[in-house]
Amino acid sequence: MSSSPDTIAREVRRRRTFAIISHPDAGKSTMTEALALHARMISEAGAVHGKSGRKATVSDWMEMEKARGISVSSTALQFNYTPTGLANEDPGDEVEPNVINLVDTPGHADFSEDTYRVLTAVDAAVMLIDAAKGLEPQTLKLFQVCRHRGIPVITVVNKWDRPGQTPLELIDEISERIGLTPTPLYVPVGIAGDFRGLYDRRSGSYVKFSRTAGGAKIAPEELLDAQQAAQIEGDAWTAAVEESELLSEMGQDHDEELFLAGATSPMIFTSAMLNFGVRQLLEALVELAPAPAPRDDVDGKPREVTDPFSAVVFKVQAGMDASHRDRLAYMRIVSGEFERGMVVTHAQTGRPFATKYAQAVFGRDRSTVDTAYPGDVVGLVNATALAPGDTLYDDPAVEFPPIGSFAPEHFATLRARSAGKYKQFRKAMDQLESEGVVQVLRNDTRGDASPVLAAVGPMQFEVVTARMLAEFTVETELEPLGYSLARRTDDASSPELDRQRGVEVFTRTDGARLALFSDKWRLQFIEKEHPDLTLEPLVAAAD
Ligand code: GDP
Repeated sequence: MSSSPDTIAREVRRRRTFAIISHPDAGKSTMTEALALHARMISEAGAVHGKSGRKATVSDWMEMEKARGISVSSTALQFNYTPTGLANEDPGDEVEPNVINLVDTPGHADFSEDTYRVLTAVDAAVMLIDAAKGLEPQTLKLFQVCRHRGIPVITVVNKWDRPGQTPLELIDEISERIGLTPTPLYVPVGIAGDFRGLYDRRSGSYVKFSRTAGGAKIAPEELLDAQQAAQIEGDAWTAAVEESELLSEMGQDHDEELFLAGATSPMIFTSAMLNFGVRQLLEALVELAPAPAPRDDVDGKPREVTDPFSAVVFKVQAGMDASHRDRLAYMRIVSGEFERGMVVTHAQTGRPFATKYAQAVFGRDRSTVDTAYPGDVVGLVNATALAPGDTLYDDPAVEFPPIGSFAPEHFATLRARSAGKYKQFRKAMDQLESEGVVQVLRNDTRGDASPVLAAVGPMQFEVVTARMLAEFTVETELEPLGYSLARRTDDASSPELDRQRGVEVFTRTDGARLALFSDKWRLQFIEKEHPDLTLEPLVAAAD
């Protein structure tokens, strides 16, 4: 029996789906664990703090995945959270909790298209930065994707318990380098390295933190008024209040409309390790981040969240874990109620799709999902027909626009080491391509025995060669090509482009014509000499 639109609307209102974007080592695993601690999912943090003898916690798995390099499984952690007045206060169970979906982005220095696809499944992002390091390359790239997709961003300055830059330096850096105006919700009391508490800019009160042993437990908070705060903290308090006034003078107060439009970013200071500021982050998500919203279909018509079930597949992953050798497709629910076992339609093939094996996956842990709502992420086991960007629905029919491939920046040819393996090699190539592991380019000159692989990050190549060997027993040889950028072109422009030095034209499996260039100077030169040629930029990560 499915639920009424009212029930679905209520479920949607209490949901928040977000991802953390950060450079490696900024503290994403530690923060994930701190969030789980505050949501009372775990009773103690510590796995990533290197304390021995503690029960393995959620982020342990992320660490292992990272160390292994490939097959970082993008998954979602779902937890209930009820906003409380103070972190150490019991939320009680009178109020219906919020449901938070934290969708994991792969946590390594390299990029892959997967990272970008994950960001199509969230309604908000938390940009986590290290107080000492400020903006780092991966944060910048991921932020560009958020901007491109219009995802609102909450900025978290982490590791405030360690020496770092001043709040104003960090704010300036973010404004200047990415054109996003931070609007701190709190100003830290105490400089970086001497984190005492947070000045709540909206209420004017002071949240004072206390440390717990090893930062393993929720840090107790005390709520004090301005007078008490001034007495206890002296100059540190005065400095925080002055900083806040300065920010207000510059117009850097939170504004809902500007935040949702992606112009400003509420900012919070935290220490994930000490569990300081974590409640404030959760509350900002609940209070400020948008709940799941209608999504436009291919014709621009919105599918309302209370319409019958629909979902978009945003990632397909072959289980590299020996005990789970299967293929999982992750879908983000767009509308309606999902009930395990329902037979839905796969829009791309028009075929029915049975959802008997629906799972929530976080790292090693898998559990059966019986019901889910818009904003939730569900893994479908052995979903061989599904590819990233595909739509699943219950009548009436709907098809969402494709996710789109991102501009590749790395190119290499791949061939089977032994000619006898050619058939398997082709089969494997088709399979990996349909999963969206890598883009495949072909042209007549090169033939089919050594197609050109195109990727956003070189790690995608490693995944291809590793899986060719592990799953298809094909040993391959990868040879990097001297191209570094691609442009979309057409039939009319291809012959002229092919005549140019340092350029080669290919057809991608989706039919797109791509011209590859050795470098941007070559491209600029050709654009100048032949202004009539079609050379359009692809959706780029860092345009
Ligand atoms: P990730 O790569 O972004 O997942 O980062 P981790 O969570 O693994 O953290 C990287 C390192 O920074 C680890 O040694 C953490 O213990 C440490 N770390 C994370 N958060 C904090 C923090 O708030 N303060 C301090 N001092 N260290 C932190």
